[in-house]
Amino acid sequence: MAPEPPAVGNGQPARAAEPSLPGDPLLRVTSLTAAYGKREAVCDVSIEVGRGEVVALLGHNGAGKTTLLKALFGLKSVSQGEVVFDGQVCTGRSYADNVKAGMSFTPAEAAVFRDLSVLENLELGGFTVEDAGVRRERVEKIYSTFPILEERRGQMAGTLSGGEQRMLSIGIALMSDPRLMFLDEPSLGLTPALAQKVLERIRELASVDGLSVLVVEQNVRAALRVSSRAYFLRTGRIILEEPAEVALARGHWWDLF
Ligand code: ATP
Repeated sequence: MAPEPPAVGNGQPARAAEPSLPGDPLLRVTSLTAAYGKREAVCDVSIEVGRGEVVALLGHNGAGKTTLLKALFGLKSVSQGEVVFDGQVCTGRSYADNVKAGMSFTPAEAAVFRDLSVLENLELGGFTVEDAGVRRERVEKIYSTFPILEERRGQMAGTLSGGEQRMLSIGIALMSDPRLMFLDEPSLGLTPALAQKVLERIRELASVDGLSVLVVEQNVRAALRVSSRAYFLRTGRIILEEPAEVALARGHWWDLF
């Protein structure tokens, strides 16, 4: 396999970008490229996510959506471009430092510890939070967002239904109290009704708590209903950005690809 292209910014501490203004986006990505060997999976991508905004990232299988999320979160090296989070240049920063700075990533596969209970999973998600009272408050908040998790709090995560596991993996991410969530297909494997419910909860977290979310979804209509804007990705490039309500009215997205 061809060697990875030189990574940009790996291991470098974040440095200040231009001074950020109150109206500035929380995340600004400029001309980002990420490759597997010589093959560019994400090419010259520029996107923004505002504070308290839910933004959808849409496209066919293999378009580069997951690679983009991983590159932004620090799980995939970046070969070109710049990522600015909350006024700090953080291109190629490690995921551990990105979590500390307020990012979280929930992968498409349910990321739960199967042999631990629901509560133990949540506590593990908040292991960096030293104050037990704060940890408890966060668990309570997650229970109020996803009441089924409270009902199942003593149950082993591996025995939860697929939908419950999705909610738990989002809950684990929320335990670090992120300001920006990268969500990869939160409705994967859920019934349309449950998918809508999970996405509605995410929208509430954005509108009530000011959480910013970049969400990848195959369920285009459901994603557009909870987003303010959408980016459409084709073979690694952004081919269109538009307000979600405009995209919803179009109703024939797949023609774009
Ligand atoms: P899906 O909707 O199917 O999850 P996606 O839009 O998230 O797709 P990616 O998973 O980002 O797409 O993949 C983009 C391209 O990069 C694809 O052509 C894929 O085969 C390739 N790719 C992904 N991961 C790797 C890897 N680890 N090594 C080599 N190529 C990869």
